[in-house]
Amino acid sequence: MASSKAHHATGFAAGVIAAAIVARIGGGAPFHIGVLLSFVAGVAGSTAPDWLEVAWWSRARRLWITHRTLTHWGIGWLALLAVSYHWLGHSAYAAPAFGFACGGLMHLFADWPNPLGVPWIARRHSLNLWNSGHCDLIVVAASWAAAYFVGQQVWLHGMHGVPWLQHLRAG
Ligand SMILES: [Zn+2]
Repeated sequence: MASSKAHHATGFAAGVIAAAIVARIGGGAPFHIGVLLSFVAGVAGSTAPDWLEVAWWSRARRLWITHRTLTHWGIGWLALLAVSYHWLGHSAYAAPAFGFACGGLMHLFADWPNPLGVPWIARRHSLNLWNSGHCDLIVVAASWAAAYFVGQQVWLHGMHGVPWLQHLRAG
């Protein structure tokens, strides 16, 4: 994995992205709670693929599933992102779920470049760029560039700035 510091740093960026989008769309019932929740969930989600695979409820804290399998499954996280995005503004649970999915995907992106790779669809795929912990700065910088880009697009142009997201919206 990328170092946990890197996962946290990119997690904040994921939280910002989620919060910006939720703020623009309206996060359901009490509006700014949705924004806040999506941010917090984004930060939590960014480390989730790693802590979800640890049996933290047991003493031994062993992995109950193999590292980087199910919890790092790209389709699962994308599905959560799409479904929660669809329900934004319709359900109070959508905002935190959306934030969580943003965080989870950010985690996958951070893990992707190192040799173990990420199982996006079926088999693990790696960009094979560097070993764990190396070049964290690049990963973190890229995540913040993404946050800046999305934030700016969303604020300047509304959801029209991100047409691919608009397609996912409920009518
Ligand atoms: Zn990981």
